[in-house]
Order: sequence, then structure tokens, then C-alpha cells
Amino acid sequence: MHEGAIIHSLLEIAKDIRIKEDLKEITEVKIVVGKFHQIVEEVMITNFSFMKAEYEGFENAVLYMTEKNVSVKCEDCNHEFTIDEPILMCPNCDSFNTELISGKELYIETIEGMKD
Ligand SMILES: [Zn+2]
Repeated sequence: MHEGAIIHSLLEIAKDIRIKEDLKEITEVKIVVGKFHQIVEEVMITNFSFMKAEYEGFENAVLYMTEKNVSVKCEDCNHEFTIDEPILMCPNCDSFNTELISGKELYIETIEGMKD
């Protein structure tokens, strides 16, 4: 997925919240991203800094990103493991009968702002 597109949706959501909650400015946006998406934190933060300039009330907004490991469970031996590469093979029994249990997350955890 493209980092710029994610930041755009993120800013749109935060903008709506700012208007709805009558906030003067947004101060921080925290997101959780599973490593499965292969999103680069530095790229996200750079995109956020550039793109937030087009939005009112985001001058001091900071983006924080928490990464979630890709966790996999083996259906054959119940072994749970985390992976760095997209290879879903169980290191315990070499089975490919595995299920992704985390790592696909992509959501906003909190959006903080100030009234005045
Ligand atoms: Zn296994």
C-alpha cells in the first residue's frame, strides 16, 4: 500500500474529528500498523509533515506509528511464531498449513487535539 494514500485518509479522518469536536488544533495522531503491510515509518512521518501543511489546525501535529509483528500460528502443531519475511512456513514442523494471527493491523489508535 502507498504511504501517501494512507496519510491522506488519516488526515481526512483527523480533520473531520477536529471539526466535529470543535478543536482548534490536532496535536498528535497515533496509528498501529502491522508489519505485513511493509510500511516504512520514516516515509510515513515525512509524508505526514508535508501533507499536513494543506490542512488547517495541523501545524503542531505529530504522527506516531506503532508497528505490530507478523505473528503466525501453525495449524498442524499449534506452534506460534513471528516472521520478518513473508514466508509462512512453520519453523517447528516445516508445515505451510499456517494462519496469520496478527500483522495486518492498520488503524488509528488515538487522535489528540486542543480546544484553545
Ligand atoms: Zn508446525
